[in-house]
Amino acid sequence: MRVSLLLALSRSVFKKCPQCGEEKIYKQYLKLKPYCNNCNEKLSIYRTDDFGPWLTIIIVGHIIVPLVLYIEQNYSPQLWLQAITWIPITILTVLYMLPISKSICLAILWSLRDK
Ligand SMILES: [Zn+2]
Repeated sequence: MRVSLLLALSRSVFKKCPQCGEEKIYKQYLKLKPYCNNCNEKLSIYRTDDFGPWLTIIIVGHIIVPLVLYIEQNYSPQLWLQAITWIPITILTVLYMLPISKSICLAILWSLRDK
């Protein structure tokens, strides 16, 4: 059964298999399972390379930078306070988004595979 790109992308946001949507695709933080335990879809053959980190930078940048600018323009807190606030928030957001971005990349590659 062929799954649409939109459905595969929606499953990838939850880090689920693009084919069945039932199993998690990671066995560790960013380590893909070789295949899905539910539908046996091969997962580790898709090389996502640097697309996941690039997508993470784009997404996190579009979340954090407007927040930093808004806070700076409206409240102007001390620089040390901004540093101890925004640096951990940025790091945590990146760590949260990285597996999701890699999963999105995998879903795109998976949908573009030879049928
Ligand atoms: Zn599956």
